[in-house]
Formats: sequence, C-alpha cells, structure tokens
Amino acid sequence: MTKPVLIGLTGGIGSGKTTVSKVFKSLGVPVYYADDRAKWLMANDEQLKGEIQEAFGAESYDDEGNLNRGYLAERVFPDQKQLSQLNALVHPAVGRDFAAWVNEHRAQPYLLKEAALIFEAGSYKSLDKVIVVTSPKEERIKRVLLRDMQRSREQVLAIIDKQLSENERKRRADYLIDNSGKVLVIPQVMGLDQKLRAL
Ligand code: ATP
Repeated sequence: MTKPVLIGLTGGIGSGKTTVSKVFKSLGVPVYYADDRAKWLMANDEQLKGEIQEAFGAESYDDEGNLNRGYLAERVFPDQKQLSQLNALVHPAVGRDFAAWVNEHRAQPYLLKEAALIFEAGSYKSLDKVIVVTSPKEERIKRVLLRDMQRSREQVLAIIDKQLSENERKRRADYLIDNSGKVLVIPQVMGLDQKLRAL
C-alpha cells in the first residue's frame, strides 16, 4: 500500500485554518491538529513529561502530574533560550505522535496537518505540499478579537509580528485558499480536495 500524501494547512493567526480544516473534515479527510496535540502531549506523554521535568524542574508538573502552565508561562515562555529548549523537546514528541497517526490512517489518499507555524518551525520539510489560508490582516485581527474576548489588539499584533509576513507565506504556498470573505470557501476546498486525491 502506498503512503498517504501529507498536506500541511497553515495561515496567519485568525486566517481561518480551523474553519477551512472543518470543511476538509466534512469531506472525510482526517485532520491532525498539531498545536492542540502538542499541548495534549505536554500534559499526557510520559516520555515528554519526563524530559520537561528534567530540563525545567519538578515544578513543571503538580503533585497529580498535571502540567503547571502558570509556572511555564512565567519562567519558560518569556525566555527565548528556554522556549527554544522546550520546543526542541516538544517537536520530536509531536513528530513521533504524527507518524503514529499517519500510520493509523495509511489507507487514506491524503492527510492534513494543521499548524500555525509550518514554515517557521520547519515541519514543511516532512510534508508533500502546503496549503495556505489567506485573509487580509485587518480582517484577521477583527475576527480574532471577536473570537477571543481576553485578547487585545496589541497582543494580536505582537503575534502577527512573530509570524511570517502574509506575502512570504503566500510565496511559499503550494495552494492558496482565499478566506477574505469575498470568495466562497466551500467550492475552493472541494476543488482542492479533487486535486489532492489525484496526486
Ligand atoms: P488561530 O491562528 O488563532 O488558531 P485560525 O487561523 O484557526 O486561528 P479560525 O479559528 O478558523 O482561524 O478563524 C478565526 C475566527 O474567524 C473564528 O471565530 C472563525 O469563526 C471566524 N471566521 C473564519 N472564517 C471566517 C469568514 N470567512 N468570515 C467570518 N468569520 C470567519
């Protein structure tokens, strides 16, 4: 049996990655949500938990073994060096988990991996093609502020600043989905689904 084609699905914050992935899902395409899965693995994968404790101290988990997010947010996330060190542990764990997931779905023609930072984190190298969901910056900010009441415009802009520019992402895309609101999304996804099944 041949391996399924592996397709990345990315886009800037608020571009509509999750919205678009749900349309693919409704067509029967399995979707791996890398960012959610990374959080789950930090809380549940025994090997990764051990590595995090070793690198950042026993305080990284509470007495019941739950991830101490407050501690990590205060001590690790603001320090670029420690954050890179944490990412260097989480990435291989997601890689192992993704490989197992691909194996479980090996009968499918293609699989989708949704992640915010496919280009920035280098995971595009292990994917066959990458779809980029696009939407104008102001539209994205507006949607995120509507969705996440706790976030300020400044916080959203700070995240946008850390991500690749929209032009750079578009330049690196194999396929684009326009989610500006001016073009219907479902027909675009259906067309792309046909192309991907034929790869
Ligand atoms: P993040 O990077 O924050 O995970 P995302 O790229 O996955 O975001 P979504 O969560 O799919 O983006 O979309 C952001 C918000 O915008 C959601 O509340 C979603 O319902 C809304 N949204 C997505 N597409 C559209 C659209 N075409 N018109 C209006 N609202 C939309």
